[in-house]
Amino acid sequence: NVSAEEAEDTGKEEQPKTGVRLNIVFVTSEAAPYSKTGGLGDVCGSLPIAFAARGHRVMVVSPRYLNGVSNKNYDNAVDLGRRININCFGGLQEVAFFHEYRAGVDWVFVDHPSYHRGGNPYGDTRGAFGDNQFRFTLLSHAACEAPLVLPLGGYTYGEKCLFLVNDWHASLVPVLLGAKYRPYGVYKDARSILVIHNLAHQGVEPAATYQNLGLPNEWYSALEWIFPTWARAHALDKGEAVNILKGAIVTADRIMTVSKGYAWEITTIEGGYGLDHLLGSRKSVLNGITNGIDVDEWDPAKDKQIPSCYSIDDLSGKALCKQALQKEIGLPIRPDCPVIGFIGRLDYQKGTDLIRMAMPELLNEDIQFIMLGSGDLATEEWMRSAEATYPEKFRGWVGFNVPLSHRITAGCDILLMPSRFEPCGLNQLYAMRYGTVPVVHATGGLRDTVENFNPFANEGRGQGTGWTFSPLSKESMLVALRYAMKTYREHKDTWEGLMKRGMSQDFTWDNAASQYEQIFKWAFLDPP
Ligand code: ADP
Repeated sequence: NVSAEEAEDTGKEEQPKTGVRLNIVFVTSEAAPYSKTGGLGDVCGSLPIAFAARGHRVMVVSPRYLNGVSNKNYDNAVDLGRRININCFGGLQEVAFFHEYRAGVDWVFVDHPSYHRGGNPYGDTRGAFGDNQFRFTLLSHAACEAPLVLPLGGYTYGEKCLFLVNDWHASLVPVLLGAKYRPYGVYKDARSILVIHNLAHQGVEPAATYQNLGLPNEWYSALEWIFPTWARAHALDKGEAVNILKGAIVTADRIMTVSKGYAWEITTIEGGYGLDHLLGSRKSVLNGITNGIDVDEWDPAKDKQIPSCYSIDDLSGKALCKQALQKEIGLPIRPDCPVIGFIGRLDYQKGTDLIRMAMPELLNEDIQFIMLGSGDLATEEWMRSAEATYPEKFRGWVGFNVPLSHRITAGCDILLMPSRFEPCGLNQLYAMRYGTVPVVHATGGLRDTVENFNPFANEGRGQGTGWTFSPLSKESMLVALRYAMKTYREHKDTWEGLMKRGMSQDFTWDNAASQYEQIFKWAFLDPP
């Protein structure tokens, strides 16, 4: 066993705030601003910087995606000239490492031809890439080698590392530590923490693919996964599969999720996606910490992507943002008409079906609705047609557009998030920081971060930062939205109170990072 103190690195730099300097290695399929399709990219782009600022030595290992559009993101990353061969999928695969030192963090990009293709990190318009298991197996192997072989800033990270492995794409790492390295005395003192951002994706592939993963045969049971009978394709199908995320759940030293509420939900049958029992059995090492947000990128007082900046002391800029947004997307410019926004992946998870169902009733009211998102093709098609049906009231922008997401967040009055489940959710945090009042389904991180409005609390001055509705139904969503719209129209002071309480919340990464440090301490104090 190694104590947290013993894990202290003897690096050149100053002692951190915590007194214990750790070598932290993030392994992730996305890290903003290099790659991002959702919250995972945001977290792995910001949390490493927060740890570095607190005095730790931090490396982030992710693929070097060259898809034609993102190539320039890697312009400052130089080839370290180090090649390694990874033995998997029936042969040796050569990978290279690129490196950029930025904001106190070593950003390491694994380079391989399978990361050079159009689309996003996981697929293109035809669907998910067929070789994702291969691509992320490479990532995990390469990430295990990086601390041993890359002399970053002159010296390697070495074996005494804390691996933070994110979602299924990186979940082979703790298995590799146990199966490939520790039997040879390497990484004995390393620890691994699995961070679950979304349990719905687990990296499940046919059992026969196990032999491709570069693991010894006797470790099969760590990844073994048997589908229930009803989920099998035919009578002869024994339901055998490998589940990469499961491998990390059983082998990682600790397990984290991105909110406390989600940490509980994944141990229930409704939220566990078949892994609830297993996660329940590891409850003693399972914790949740709410994500922070990049308060520099998302700051209404200095955001260069919005037409007029504003702050809690002077909200006048927000009205200008609303006006500019209405003008930009071609809705009537009406300062008093509540504007409701939705930003996110068009996915069953995000409850876009509910929005579609509610729209005819909702647009009977005097409101405007703006949607930004991409994903499910039928919903994209519906967004286009809804513009024609409700020309004065509805606009749908199909695509992924970060500057526009800032302008919508600033320009709307209300942000709607009817997610079925939401591990943390970032848009409600951005919205509150921009004085846009969230109306959300009471689930996971949404319930943890949005306090339901109570007009009578606080000696009648009101309390809360938005509306949370439950159950997840069109009716309860409409009820919450109607409360919000009524408050907006009839109680201007109350509304301003809601906005200001949201704007003064502390969602800094430093706050989250200090909570993570407690978990790190436990990871090193507990036996592996
Ligand atoms: P998830 O990770 O499940 O997609 P989160 O709320 O955690 O959901 O994070 C989503 C992130 O992706 C946020 O930063 C959000 O603003 C961004 N995002 C989602 N869809 C779009 C889009 N169409 N255009 C721009 N940004 C988007």
